[in-house]
Amino acid sequence: SEERSSWFTKLRNGLRKTGSSIAQVFTGTQIDDALYEELEAALLMADAGVKATEFLLNDLKRRVKEAKATEPAAVKALLADAVTELLKPLEKQLTIGEASPTVMMVVGVNGAGKTTSIGKLTRHLAEAGEKVLLAAADTFRAAAREQLAVWAGRTNVEIVSQEGGDPSAVTFDAVVAGKARRCDVVIADTAGRLPTQLHLMEELRKIKRTIGKAQDGAPHEVLLVVDGNTGQNALTQVKAFDDALSLTGLVVTKLDGTAKGGVLAAIARERPVPVYFIGVGEKLEDLETFDAREFANALLG
Ligand code: GDP
Repeated sequence: SEERSSWFTKLRNGLRKTGSSIAQVFTGTQIDDALYEELEAALLMADAGVKATEFLLNDLKRRVKEAKATEPAAVKALLADAVTELLKPLEKQLTIGEASPTVMMVVGVNGAGKTTSIGKLTRHLAEAGEKVLLAAADTFRAAAREQLAVWAGRTNVEIVSQEGGDPSAVTFDAVVAGKARRCDVVIADTAGRLPTQLHLMEELRKIKRTIGKAQDGAPHEVLLVVDGNTGQNALTQVKAFDDALSLTGLVVTKLDGTAKGGVLAAIARERPVPVYFIGVGEKLEDLETFDAREFANALLG
């Protein structure tokens, strides 16, 4: 559809540099060591990291041999297959279960696009007919609460917010309010933090435990929002937040910008947390489900 192709264009434009430098590798006439060396450099430049790059090169050589490919163009097509297969396990639909409410906790470093992504996610869920309640668990920064309130206003959903005090307590109240108001989904925003800030990571664990006390089996989702432009840092964040909180999914943002995109290959290889959504812009509608084949095509230019 037109809508689908417009986000694909945004994604492809975002990955343009990566796409053209990978595509460049296949413009010659021969399949030789130089081609594989150039490809290795291009994948590393695209943030795929050493492990995923090595994996992809070996996988590609196997495919080339099997297919008895003789043209660089054919090798490129096989690379698209290899990347797709590597990224496939990251594909997952976010589903809202029977629990009422389904509770989602959203975490990430400052500036990753957490609040924006919550706004987009809220719109997505509200459009699907879910009654959403937002919980502003960043009790410390007024600006963060205000920004979340703006998104709540734009998407026409309720918000539980509190100045000061314990983020766990606010989240607890929000889950209880979500039950009382018969909401389908409660989304808890949390203050941005670095995984190296250990006391703040402990605070997240506490919020998670508290959500479980407010409702059995919750939180149902623990989502990390990562900036797709931060390269190998994004992988480091996925590992650290997953170690601390057992993530259920990722939102990878800013893939419309100057992202290199290869970091998804690194994530797939080293810490395959599902990618529920990718962010391809600053507007409410700029949220898309992750499709491995389309992403691979965009990545390869
Ligand atoms: P937070 O600190 O993690 O809550 O980050 P924000 O949600 O405030 O986002 C930080 C900046 O990134 C804002 O200027 C957003 O508009 C921008 N942003 C968020 N997601 C995307 C995206 O997918 N694409 C682009 N281009 N910008 C984004």
